[in-house]
Amino acid sequence: MTAPPPGSDPSPPDRETTTAPDADSRFAVPLRGVAVDPETRCAHWDDPVDVVALRFGCCEAYYPCDACHDAATDHEAVPWPRDRFDDPAVLCGVCETTITASEYLDCDDTCPACGAAFNPGCRKHRGRYFEVAGSGDEDGDDGL
Ligand SMILES: [Zn+2]
Ligand SMILES: [Zn+2]
Ligand SMILES: [Zn+2]
Repeated sequence: MTAPPPGSDPSPPDRETTTAPDADSRFAVPLRGVAVDPETRCAHWDDPVDVVALRFGCCEAYYPCDACHDAATDHEAVPWPRDRFDDPAVLCGVCETTITASEYLDCDDTCPACGAAFNPGCRKHRGRYFEVAGSGDEDGDDGL
């Protein structure tokens, strides 16, 4: 029976910061990060297309980005291991479907479940999130 206070901010941030060992209760998977919005944007990546959270091999939780991982934990981030690429490792913040690392790396920056656009710029830092053999932080060159 409480009315919203008059003159309240028309655009509430709706953001939550969660650090280990807690997890953000809005998501079905264990997820932490800094100023995370309901579609997994964070304090560091805040564009309309920044709607994926990535799982790390070290603690098996999802984070909007590696900076969120480092802020929410006290250990070094370990990319998702290659031998588990068939396990769920990416959360689409739009439809909250988890997809496997293989599906994500193969998805052409579009959610295979709902069609939401993902940030194509994430390709540049794949090595931080996935154990991709022989490719470090490569830039540009999108050849074969
Ligand atoms: Zn970790
Ligand atoms: Zn972040
Ligand atoms: Zn989706």
